[in-house]
Amino acid sequence: MSGKVWLIGAGPGDPELLTLKAVRALGEAEVVMIDDLVNPAVLEHCPTARVIRVGKRGGCRSTPQAFIHRLMLRYARQGRCVARLKGGDPCIFGRAGEEAEWLAARGVSSEIVNGITAGLAGATACGISLTLRGVARGVTLVTAHTQDDSAPNWPALAATGTTLVVYMGVARLAEIQQGLLDGGLALTTPVAMIENASLPSQRECRSTLQDLQVDAALFQLRSPAILVIGEVVGQAALQQALSFAAQA
Ligand code: SAH
Repeated sequence: MSGKVWLIGAGPGDPELLTLKAVRALGEAEVVMIDDLVNPAVLEHCPTARVIRVGKRGGCRSTPQAFIHRLMLRYARQGRCVARLKGGDPCIFGRAGEEAEWLAARGVSSEIVNGITAGLAGATACGISLTLRGVARGVTLVTAHTQDDSAPNWPALAATGTTLVVYMGVARLAEIQQGLLDGGLALTTPVAMIENASLPSQRECRSTLQDLQVDAALFQLRSPAILVIGEVVGQAALQQALSFAAQA
């Protein structure tokens, strides 16, 4: 009998943003494989599990995906319950689909547990409502960095009129800026750059599409960070409500 693999979203960093289901799954796990960007504080929910760090910060120079696959399979075939902990949501730039498919092809069942993705948590923590009646009728989550090094169609994204939340964009600011301006966004379009969202080390830099690069350099923006681009960034409603709540 092969064991089971949980593919769990650990949220953006704040351990309180873990779901109850993630806590239950961690409690069942005998082996926990933890990715980069997962706050190790969440391991308090699996005190007796064997923990394997598979990210760059764990000392390995980014564990190859093939090795991670094989490791999951090996423990599952030993009948163990394996938890694979990923930052944010496992299905948002997190490869959970690939891993689930790979395991299924080898007869191992897996279950995905959602987590709060960095873009959502970062925006809220900075008082930004990603959709807002009369301002933005939608939100697009997009990565600036792909394995094949191709760029998203920035001009087309500009034309959607949705708030853009850009992941993995820190090293691509020039390209993002140019593409969105080419697509017709105004130079004055507000941008928030949010580093280490939801952690005590969170930092936020407000800028515009025009000044994006200069401001990011002055701020010394570092990964992990997300960019929120769109008129909702300039709206004060949620910020006022949040500061009011903080005072109360
Ligand atoms: N599955 C993750 C995303 C993994 S891709 C999720 O749903 O959040 C890694 C990228 O996510 C980083 O380059 C950065 O753009 C973003 N990211 C992850 N954690 C973050 C955090 N705490 N603050 C800001 N950005 C973060």
